[in-house]
Amino acid sequence: MVGFQTKLKHGAQQRVFRTIPGLEHAEFARLGGLHRNTFLNSPKLLDTQLRLRAQPRLRFAGQMTGCEGYVESAGIGLIAGLYAAADARSTTLAPPPVTTALGALLGHITGGHIETIDPGARSFQPMNINFGLFPPARQPADEKIPTVRACAATKRPLPRNRRSAPARCRTSIAGLPIACL
Ligand SMILES: Cc1cc2nc3c(=O)[nH]c(=O)nc-3n(C[C@H](O)[C@H](O)[C@H](O)COP(=O)(O)OP(=O)(O)OC[C@H]3O[C@@H](n4cnc5c(N)ncnc54)[C@H](O)[C@@H]3O)c2cc1C
Repeated sequence: MVGFQTKLKHGAQQRVFRTIPGLEHAEFARLGGLHRNTFLNSPKLLDTQLRLRAQPRLRFAGQMTGCEGYVESAGIGLIAGLYAAADARSTTLAPPPVTTALGALLGHITGGHIETIDPGARSFQPMNINFGLFPPARQPADEKIPTVRACAATKRPLPRNRRSAPARCRTSIAGLPIACL
């Protein structure tokens, strides 16, 4: 079972899987487990452009820098490549904004995460991109968002977490304006 991460013991996994109709008598060639990532302590070892502080001619990319996932690894590879190309051309490349997925992930890898982690021991662990890596969303002080109770298009009451969202929306998913979802 490729990519099936679990701490369940093999016996327990087999018991659970055999409850699935059709798999009562299945033989499992390989069961789930946890995979371990080998990664650099990037916040300490790498600078903000993914260069090894001790040897700046070396640049790191991909999962070993402390991201996880196909897209994340490719994304960090892309930005490392762009930084390398900028170096080769003796130009500078502005970092991606921290409000973008790439900028937030780069911030996590090169040090932002360990500085802002909750109270407790500092740690650095590989991460997929997630909203916890982004800076808190800010609302301009003078911007008042009206409270809206129903969607203007469908007149349906909005879910509680959407009460301050504009009721007019042109985008829809499966025929429903997104405010209704
Ligand atoms: C079982 C499993 C399931 C996964 N499922 C998902 C999933 O569903 N979705 C997802 O987004 N991610 C998934 N991942 C994570 C994803 O595979 C990785 O995050 C991603 O492939 C990392 O890409 P990378 O190019 O940075 O590194 P890698 O893909 O690990 O590539 C590194 C390459 O460097 C080579 N290498 C190592 N040392 C040397 C050396 N000394 N000299 C030369 N070459 C070397 C390796 O052989 C390898 O080819 C999964 C990982 C595992 C293990």
